[in-house]
Amino acid sequence: MPIIEKVAWDFAGDEDIAYRFPNLSLKYGSQVIVKENQWAVFFRDGKAYDVFGPGRHTITSNNIPLLTGALKALRIIGDVFSCEVVYVSNSQFRGKFGGQAYSAPSGAIQYQAELGYYGYLLYKIEDPKLFVIEFFGNKGASTSTDIENYIRGFINERVIDEFANHDIFNVVKNVDETTDKVSLIIKDEAARIGLKIIDTVFEGVKIPEEARRFATTMGQQAMTMQYMKETTAELPEGGGAAGAGVGAGIGIALGNTLGKAMQPSQSSGGAQQVLLCPNCGSQNNVGAKFCGNCGKSLAPVAKIICPKCGAAMPESMKFCGNCGSPMKPKKINCPKCNTENLSTNKFCGNCGNKLE
Ligand SMILES: [Zn+2]
Ligand SMILES: [Zn+2]
Ligand SMILES: [Zn+2]
Repeated sequence: MPIIEKVAWDFAGDEDIAYRFPNLSLKYGSQVIVKENQWAVFFRDGKAYDVFGPGRHTITSNNIPLLTGALKALRIIGDVFSCEVVYVSNSQFRGKFGGQAYSAPSGAIQYQAELGYYGYLLYKIEDPKLFVIEFFGNKGASTSTDIENYIRGFINERVIDEFANHDIFNVVKNVDETTDKVSLIIKDEAARIGLKIIDTVFEGVKIPEEARRFATTMGQQAMTMQYMKETTAELPEGGGAAGAGVGAGIGIALGNTLGKAMQPSQSSGGAQQVLLCPNCGSQNNVGAKFCGNCGKSLAPVAKIICPKCGAAMPESMKFCGNCGSPMKPKKINCPKCNTENLSTNKFCGNCGNKLE
C-alpha cells in the first residue's frame, strides 16, 4: 500500500457529517489537514485514539501519543503504520424522525393508545471521540447516510420508550408537556454518544379519536363496557366445566365491578354477587381482589379463543380447558420496535424488549 503523505477531507459537502479514510498507510511525518469545523480522529481496530482539531498537523509520536502507545503494544515499531482517519464535522445538522409509539396502559382494560409522531431535531457533534467510537466502532457506520439512519433510529427508540411512560390521560391533557419530557430524555441520552441536541421539535403528535374518547370518564366507561360485552360474547355456550367456570367468573367479575361503579345505589341481584376463582373455582364476594380459598388474583385476565371449539381461555393457558387442543397464542406487537411476537413470549424476538 502506498504511504500517504497528506490526508485532507477537502471534498466535504454541507450535508456530510463524517468521512472515514479506511486502511491508510501513514508514517511519522505525514500531514493531516483539518479544516475549520472539522476534527480528525485516529481510529484503529474499532478504537478511537487521538483527535486533531483544525490546522495543519505533521504526525509525530508526540501528537498522537495514544495511537503510538497502541502500536507499541501491538509491537508495530517503525515509521510506517496503518490506521484509519475519521473526519467529523462540527457543523449543525437537521434530522427528521417519526413513527408510532404506545402510551402507558390505562384503566381497567389497560388501554394503550397508538400515537403517531413526527418532527425534526437540530444537533451537532460535541465529542468527536465518543461519536467515532459509537458510530464507526460499535455500529460500523461508514457514510453520512449510515449516521443519519442511526441517529433517527436512536431518537425513535427514545421517543417510543418515553411515550410508554405516559398515560393517555396526560398525553391528551397536555401534549406539549409530554413532548418536552421526551425531548429532555433525548438530550441526555444523546450526550452519552457525543451528540449535542440543540433542539427537538415535535411537529405533530397524532392521538387517535378513540384515545381522546377514552381519556374522558364517560368514554372510558363506554369502552370498558364495550370490551366487557365482547369478552362476555366469547363465552362458550354449554362448554365443559373448566371453560364455563373460567369464563363465567371473569364475566361476572367485570360486569359487577363496572355495574357498581356506574350505579352505586342499585343492587344487582343475589345470584350474580359471587365471583368464581379462575384457579380453584371457589366462590368469592364481588370486589375481592384475591381468592379467599387459594389466594390467586381475581383480576380479569386477558383471553384467547380456542381455535378448535371457540372457548375463551385465559391468555396464559397453553391448552384449551374445554376441548384440550393447543391454544394459539395471540400476536402482539413489540411496543419498542413494533415487531410481531406471540403473546406467550416474555421478550421481543427482534430487540429483546420486555413484552407485557
Ligand atoms: Zn381460588
Ligand atoms: Zn377448545
Ligand atoms: Zn422489539
